[in-house]
Order: sequence, then C-alpha cells, then structure tokens
Amino acid sequence: MRKAPFIDKKTAQAIDEKIPTPFYVYDEAGIVQNAENIKSAFSWNPGFKEYFAVKATPNPYILTLLKNHGIGVDCSSLTELMLSKAVGYSGDDIMFSSNETPAEDYRLAKELGAIVNLDDITHIDYFDNLCGLNETMSIRYNPGGVFTVSNGIMDNPQDAKYGMTTEQMYEAVRIMMSRGVKHFGIHSFLVSNTVTNDYYPMLAKKLFALAVDIHAKTGAHIAFVNLSGGVGIPYTPDQEPNDIFVIGDGVRKVYEEIFTPAGMTDVAIYTEMGRYVLGPYGALVTKAIHEKHIYKEYIGVDACAVNLMRPAMYGSYHHITVLGKEDDPCTETYDVVGGLCENNDKFAIDRKLPKIDKGDYLFIHDTGAHGYSMGYNYNGKLRCAEVLVHPDKSFDLIRRAETPKDYFATFDFSDYKFE
Ligand SMILES: *Cc1c(COP(=O)(O)O)cnc(C)c1O
Repeated sequence: MRKAPFIDKKTAQAIDEKIPTPFYVYDEAGIVQNAENIKSAFSWNPGFKEYFAVKATPNPYILTLLKNHGIGVDCSSLTELMLSKAVGYSGDDIMFSSNETPAEDYRLAKELGAIVNLDDITHIDYFDNLCGLNETMSIRYNPGGVFTVSNGIMDNPQDAKYGMTTEQMYEAVRIMMSRGVKHFGIHSFLVSNTVTNDYYPMLAKKLFALAVDIHAKTGAHIAFVNLSGGVGIPYTPDQEPNDIFVIGDGVRKVYEEIFTPAGMTDVAIYTEMGRYVLGPYGALVTKAIHEKHIYKEYIGVDACAVNLMRPAMYGSYHHITVLGKEDDPCTETYDVVGGLCENNDKFAIDRKLPKIDKGDYLFIHDTGAHGYSMGYNYNGKLRCAEVLVHPDKSFDLIRRAETPKDYFATFDFSDYKFE
C-alpha cells in the first residue's frame, strides 16, 4: 500500500518557521478516528476498555485527546503514573502493568486506585506488605514454550522475563483469594508488532481457556482478560494493515466458543495497545542539511538516533517521504544518516528515494509510538519538539525541544558555569 504522509510540504514549512526541525508531528484526526474504531470493534463486549500503553507516547496532550475518547492508560513506572494523574486519570481507568517494580511505584498505583497487574508470584507478598492487596487484582501469564500465530509469526515466551508459569497462576489466585481478593484479571503479552488479524483471537483462545479452568478449580471470579499489546502496524509499504474490526470479531467468536458455554458471560475484555493506537499517526520531520559522496551516497539530516532509536536499535524499517516530491521517481539510492558518532545512526540504508536537495523535508513515517519516547541524550544531542496537527491543519506545540540548559540541569551550577 502506498504510504501517504498526513502533512504536506506547506504545513511542514509553516511549522518549521515557528518550531525548527527536527520535530515530531501527530495527526489528531487520525488518532481520534482510530480510537473510535477500536472501541466500536469491541463494542460487543460491554466491559471493553483500551488502556493506551503510555510508554509508547508519553505526552499529556496526546493522553488528554485519548482520555476524551474513552481510552484508559497502561502505566509501568512512577513517572508514567504521575503523568496519567496530571492528565486526570484515576481508579480503574489506569492499568499498572510493571515488572521489577520499585516500592514507590506500587505505592502511587495504590494511591491512584489503579488496577495492579502483578508480574510475579513473589509480588503478592511484596505488594501486600507495602499497601495491602486490592479487591481486584490482575496477574500476568507466561505460558512458556513457543507461541505461534500464523504466517511464521511467533515468539518464545520461554525466554521472556515476564509473567508467571501456568502452575503459579493457579497458586497466585488461591493465595490472593485466601487474603480476601474478590475479582481477578488475567493478562499476557506474547508477541510484539504482529501484522496479522489472528494474534488477539489466538491469544484469547489460550487465556479464555485458562480463565475457565482457574474459575472451575478455584471458584475465583474472573472479571477481565487483558490481551495487552502486540497488535502491529505495517512499517513497510508491502505489508497488509491489520483490520481492527476483523480482530474484534475474531475475539468475539472465541468468547462465544469458550466463555459462553462456561457461563462466564460477564468477563470484560481489556487491551493495552500502544503501537496500534499511535504508531501511524506520528512522524519525525527532519531536514536534509548535508550530502556526501564517498563509497556510497549519503544524505545528512538534522535528526539523529536520539530522536528515533528504532532503526539503530532494531534495524527497523521506517518509510521516508520527501515532502513536495511525493510523485517524483525514486532514481537515487541513499543512506539517510544522523550526526551521532555511531555508524548505526542511519534512518535508511540503500533506500531508493527521489533526488534530495539540501533543505528538503523528510517525513519519517510510523514513528508515533516508541519514537520520541525512546529518545536519549548520547553525544549531548537534545530531544526535539512535538507538534499536534489539528484536523484543520492548524497546529500546536505540545512539547518544546530540549535546550542545552536542560542537558546540564542535573549538574550543580554552583560548581561550574555553562553559560
Ligand atoms: C509495551 C507494552 C504494551 C504496548 O505494546 P504495543 O506493542 O506498543 O501495543 C502493552 N502492555 C505492556 C505490559 C507493555 O509492556
């Protein structure tokens, strides 16, 4: 499928005049439409709730937009909880799915009334001693072995650090029931970025069967099943996008197959998607500032891996559109590179693109999730701004770029002068 940018060159120029490149842009119209689609795909389940994985795009303006459309938050750290609190989230609109959790994180989750999803059986005592167990508790499952979805999509839960074994799941429920816990949730995250409509239904099959068996053996009330994240997006133009309506319907069929005959018809379905909710609706916009002709052709841009780590870290493909040259033939082969002193600081390698001139805007697609948020400060490079583009193409700065002062802020200024 042809990948079309959600802003044109004129809009990029207008933003650049006020907020110099590089910057992230987010597409308000796309985010809202997608949030509504997700809710409607699961509307057959009265308790359904999507808890947006805050780590994907931790920006209060984005969270507010999602909140206004009935989306909850999934947090995994103290600051993600603080951010969610600042946006006005509380109670069971917050899922706390952490691991190796510090005490202060659990304390804030408790104070906010969040649903706590325990990653390990030893955390029952840890959380109980710190704050006391809640009436509703969630537990994270790791079935071990290999989990195969379809078309060769699979992962190895046996090698993952997350969750409890099958035996521990039953044991955890028994322990917590004996301490007065009344309602339980079951959570699992087995494969990342699945571009197939089969992942959620296949995961649901496993988790629903486990829920029925736990209920049968312990009498526990299973209040919800959390299918977590893992629903992917097509990063490359040749991939077929997921259809959330097909996914929702697939989960409904499994629900009717497993929960309905067991008489468990009040189980709510929760999801914790990050990538699927925001990924396609954010882009990194960067300007070509240099060209270099050695053994290969290079385009140097003003963003680097600190602004978008995925290509350097995972070798991820991110599609690039040269704004204003959408229809030009891809006659050149470039490495598009940032300025870090690391040879993996490349947004694209041997990429066929139109001829790029200095000053051109490059729109790096599908970076709305796990883009800005994975940023860092290596080489003393600074994090860039974030901009929300409204449906009428007007825009707002939703996070300013870092300045050197931010970078130096953790030193004691009384000892050294930086200005
Ligand atoms: C990262 C994460 C998610 C979101 O995953 P996506 O692949 O971005 O949808 C959800 N739940 C947990 C516990 C996570 O760690």
